[in-house]
Amino acid sequence: EMTVAYAQERVQFGKPIAARQAIQHAIAIMATQVAAARAASDMAGRAIGADGALDAGAIAAAKARASEAAGVCASIAHQTHGAIGFTAEHWLQFLTRRLWAWRDECGNEAFWTRRIGARVLERGADAFWPDIARGDADPAHETLRQEVRAFLATATAHMTPHDRAASWMGHDAEFSRKLAARGWLGMTMPKRLGGHDRSPLDRHVVLEELLAAGAPVAAHWIADRQSAPLVLRFGTPEQIDRAVPGVIRGETYCCIGMSEPDSGSDLAATRTRARKVEGGWRVDGTKLWTTYAHRSTFMVLFCRTDRGDGNTGTRHASTSQFLVDLDTPGITVRPILDLAGEHHFNEVNFEDVFLPDDALIGSEGQGWDQVTSELALERSGPERFLSSITLLIEMIRQLESAPDEMAVRTLGRVTANLIVLRQMSFRVATLLTEGQDAALQATMVKDLGALFEQEIPELARSLVTVEPTLDPADGYAAVLGRTLAAAPSFSLRGGTREILRGIIARG
Ligand SMILES: Cc1cc2nc3c(=O)[nH]c(=O)nc-3n(C[C@H](O)[C@H](O)[C@H](O)COP(=O)(O)OP(=O)(O)OC[C@H]3O[C@@H](n4cnc5c(N)ncnc54)[C@H](O)[C@@H]3O)c2cc1C
Repeated sequence: EMTVAYAQERVQFGKPIAARQAIQHAIAIMATQVAAARAASDMAGRAIGADGALDAGAIAAAKARASEAAGVCASIAHQTHGAIGFTAEHWLQFLTRRLWAWRDECGNEAFWTRRIGARVLERGADAFWPDIARGDADPAHETLRQEVRAFLATATAHMTPHDRAASWMGHDAEFSRKLAARGWLGMTMPKRLGGHDRSPLDRHVVLEELLAAGAPVAAHWIADRQSAPLVLRFGTPEQIDRAVPGVIRGETYCCIGMSEPDSGSDLAATRTRARKVEGGWRVDGTKLWTTYAHRSTFMVLFCRTDRGDGNTGTRHASTSQFLVDLDTPGITVRPILDLAGEHHFNEVNFEDVFLPDDALIGSEGQGWDQVTSELALERSGPERFLSSITLLIEMIRQLESAPDEMAVRTLGRVTANLIVLRQMSFRVATLLTEGQDAALQATMVKDLGALFEQEIPELARSLVTVEPTLDPADGYAAVLGRTLAAAPSFSLRGGTREILRGIIARG
């Protein structure tokens, strides 16, 4: 709080230093670390209070994680205060010196991370996720979790660790239909459409079990996560009937038509244009990086709308969204191979494509408000920190037989971070269940989650000496290679790290 206030007061180059992006991003990191420390201490509090027994795992993780967060915050506080914070009379020095004592009290980070890491290795790779996810407060969640696990034990039995390392990019339409048959798609959607009227917390339990198992969820993922909820919220009854029940049955898939060649982070710079014509709209333009457009039924298209009356409004006010059937004449989908040579995303061209009036989602000119609410859904799930979980589990398997001190402590730190991220993510689902706005918290989880997902392959490289490969037949080296190759995208897709930090700083 002191650092935020100081950044707003201290003027350099004629402006408060808080006006500078470098300072804003540092403060965003602090805010995120504070949120992590708070989630950690809440978790410890619950663990102590639960049944009077001390849950050593949660409390150890909380102490290690909160200490790490405090160290990061202290460093940013000093950097932001400049020389004044380095003086004997400034309040900051009391806080810094108190922090040394506090971090060492009841065992320092080295002590706790060593304990956690040793326990992870003693329990082994197969117990890792069950131990992380154990002890739900609500017994109904535990029952649901066990049902999902029992289903996955059979449905994913044929998958190799390399298959699982594709994480939520693994595409298997038959698997999606099987999940739907179990009632695990459209979980929060209304029963009248075939949905299940369950809470975001129930859905969260299912999602994290799917991700932890590396289940091939990509076919339905985008549709279930954001397109169907968007259509349900803003669409006409006819659009809802056309798109949503198929998503819930695991038969209708969707892609996101936001990015373009000249419009990435600055989404409102969209140049794809829909011109009003008799009975509908004519669309021209190019969408880029469109994940699984080649296997989708619909695209939710974000573009500029032009009624031809000269009134184009502001940048934001002249945008709209459309539900586009990808079989419509004039649409071509061109594959783009990613860094690993895999085909996930595409370029989608619209050439004089006619969309009927009833393709417009919501009202014309509301595109910006709608797309930002869609982005909140896109950023809020546990996939934003579990993309490297298969590598983490396989790395533990590699280390089980011959761990060294550094491996033990590193594993302890990583485990503590994961436990706390999971708490933060559950908090987002809880806020959504209560009908509250969780956009800021979700953004923090995504930023911290991407750092976590990206750190795992780097740590794996330093702890186990294996050369990564893209050859799927090559066991652990292939899991490492696949995750390393995917990692650069973690802090780009769904909004870049820099854009997220701007949002957090403003919050
Ligand atoms: C694997 C993958 C899948 C994707 N799937 C889809 C999809 O299905 N549909 C879709 O529409 N898009 C998709 N995207 C695109 C993704 O949303 C964009 O990559 C992202 O929004 C960034 O846009 P850009 O790549 O044009 O980078 P740019 O916006 O050009 O950014 C380049 C760099 O500049 C930084 N930068 C930009 N503006 C600022 C600023 N104001 N302040 C500070 N730094 C800034 C960025 O943070 C980044 O580091 C996908 C991307 C990836 C990698």
